Amino acid sequence: MYRYNQFYIDGTWQAPSSADTIDVLNPANAELCAQTASAQHADVDAAISAAKKAFVTWSRTTATQRSQFINAIADEMQARIDELTDAISTTMGCPRHLALDIQVQGSIDAFRQFADMTSYLDESHTENGIMQIHAPVGVCVLINPWNYPLSQLVGKLGPALATGCTVVLKPAEQTPLQDLILADIADKVGLPAGVLNVITGVGQNIGEYLCSHPDVDMVSFTGSTGAGIKVAQAASTTVKRVCQELGGKSPYIITEDADLEAAVRYGVEDVMINSGQTCCALTRMLVPQSKYDDAVAIAKAVALENVVGDPRSDEVTMGPLSSHLQQQRVRDYIQAGIDEGATLVTGGLDVPEHLQQGAYVLPTIFADVHNDMKIAREEIFGPVLCMIPYQDEQQAITIANDTVFGLSSGVYAKDHASAIAIARQIRAGQCYIQGSYFNTNAPFGGFKQSGNGREWGREGLREFVEVQTFVIE
Ligand code: NAD
Repeated sequence: MYRYNQFYIDGTWQAPSSADTIDVLNPANAELCAQTASAQHADVDAAISAAKKAFVTWSRTTATQRSQFINAIADEMQARIDELTDAISTTMGCPRHLALDIQVQGSIDAFRQFADMTSYLDESHTENGIMQIHAPVGVCVLINPWNYPLSQLVGKLGPALATGCTVVLKPAEQTPLQDLILADIADKVGLPAGVLNVITGVGQNIGEYLCSHPDVDMVSFTGSTGAGIKVAQAASTTVKRVCQELGGKSPYIITEDADLEAAVRYGVEDVMINSGQTCCALTRMLVPQSKYDDAVAIAKAVALENVVGDPRSDEVTMGPLSSHLQQQRVRDYIQAGIDEGATLVTGGLDVPEHLQQGAYVLPTIFADVHNDMKIAREEIFGPVLCMIPYQDEQQAITIANDTVFGLSSGVYAKDHASAIAIARQIRAGQCYIQGSYFNTNAPFGGFKQSGNGREWGREGLREFVEVQTFVIE
């Protein structure tokens, strides 16, 4: 049982202003696994005040100094990799061996990349009597969800520290531990007081207060589209920058001449990883009518390869969903799919006896899905794949774009050139070509209601700077 009854503010662990706490349940067995303090407005004020004070000196550090701190934090994360992995696997249910690889080691490596980007602040460009420089945006509030909690944290914290910003972190209620461990690491490596502050709290209670605070310059938010709208509304009264990374319902087009076995396998594995709780998951698989029956048979076989069970087992490929609440949401969508007349190919509402205490949902595939069904239009955020038939390529592209979201997409065609030609016609921030994978060098973010910001790579860094011009002549 993890117990954190303090916040990390201004370089020290401070007592909360109230005795309220938040319980975190292990989704594999519904047992209490962690308890944290629950921040109130006074704690938010203290954290933001510390970040504001620290910005004065941190924003003037050299690129080398910031780079050294980022590497020192990454070194310490590496030394505590088992602790980080256990914390994430226990709180959100990702199988430990996968959490180690995908959620933690990948995040440490990605964080280290930002140590090489700190000199971005020193770059300047002078032309026609105008000098253009980059200035750190200021005090940043970073709010994250629970599905890849460390990855989402470093995707924001890395560029913020690299560009001389100071931060207040607010992790999801369900997964607070990695942020608190990061605070401990920041303390150990001697990061100046106030540069990194961590408060744990309920988003609905303190989120909008954090976002509307006049001393905050930027909010970087990852989460649901509904909460993202509230964040933007709260931030608007003080005209701060808002970077939104929101939900998705991403299409995946498999063409007539693609390698069907490889393409379907990739698509099913993509949706089922992390129990389907991946914002860019390719949850609408568009398959030519002529290959549809074969594709459904392949998809079913691949889904059944999953071993669902205890996240501590090395044999398990799919753990529970991150909470019993999320399990109920996903089950409601599965029921809606059945009610709407989609064909349940595998999975569904039942789980074996030995998994009934945890928040488990079996890998689920629906065939004969129409794009106007609820299960094709709304983000389910669970291990549920919708297979949609199409008649010709143009219809596939129309269905792909018939969504309010635009986060991600995928195309598997005969070759890269044919896939890219189709990808250019899809309105989404990313497209995975011929079975490629998430890459932390590739700018990531949404079109339409999937958001307006970019994370990772140089574009992700740019979100945290202001362009400042000196008119010389
Ligand atoms: P959520 O929106 O409920 O919560 C996300 C975070 O927002 C949490 O820290 C929560 O405490 C906070 N929050 C909740 N209400 C708030 C409010 N009114 N003001 C400020 N903060 C508030 O989302 P979730 O259910 O935790 O996460 C799943 C969602 O996140 C999915 O929609 C998924 O697609 C999305 N997501 C998007 C990306 C991306 O990069 N686009 C990545 C991962 C997850």
